[in-house]
Amino acid sequence: MPTIFTHAVVPLAVAAAAGGARISPKLAAAGAVFAILPDADVAGFALGIEYADEWGHRGATHSIAFAGICAGGLALVWREARSLTAFLFLTFAMASHGLLDTLTSGGLGAALWWPWDNTRIFAPYTPIRVSPIGLNFFSARGLATLMSELKWVWLPCLAFALAGWGVRRAIRTHAA
Ligand SMILES: [Zn+2]
Repeated sequence: MPTIFTHAVVPLAVAAAAGGARISPKLAAAGAVFAILPDADVAGFALGIEYADEWGHRGATHSIAFAGICAGGLALVWREARSLTAFLFLTFAMASHGLLDTLTSGGLGAALWWPWDNTRIFAPYTPIRVSPIGLNFFSARGLATLMSELKWVWLPCLAFALAGWGVRRAIRTHAA
């Protein structure tokens, strides 16, 4: 997995690009949490669930369908999540986690198409280094992971957020 902060950056960049009027700060924060949640599946290791199992690490929780189910579930209990924009944003936020994981060079791929297909998928190109788990993170390998995430996730996200902000500003100026 990329580190959790890196997963959170993706929905936050989309929220920043779209602007607070479309995606409120509360919704953006929920998106950040949604982007991190799929890795809670590592708790399954303690329960004897194997990595490659349907509900193992990078299994069902990393699918696009699961993201949609969670976004729908949150809408049932939280008013802020009850709009098409919120639903699409939250689904994207969680699905982006599995998508990013397919770009990593280690472990098993993500089961993006669960429940129709449990195949663990990798993207054709896997430039992101897989993050060492736990304290091993503070090592040369951890640093290499961070650098690859900066290059392949943080920078593009920053560019995307700035571009969105620029477009919104240009439209506002034009309208004024
Ligand atoms: Zn993951």
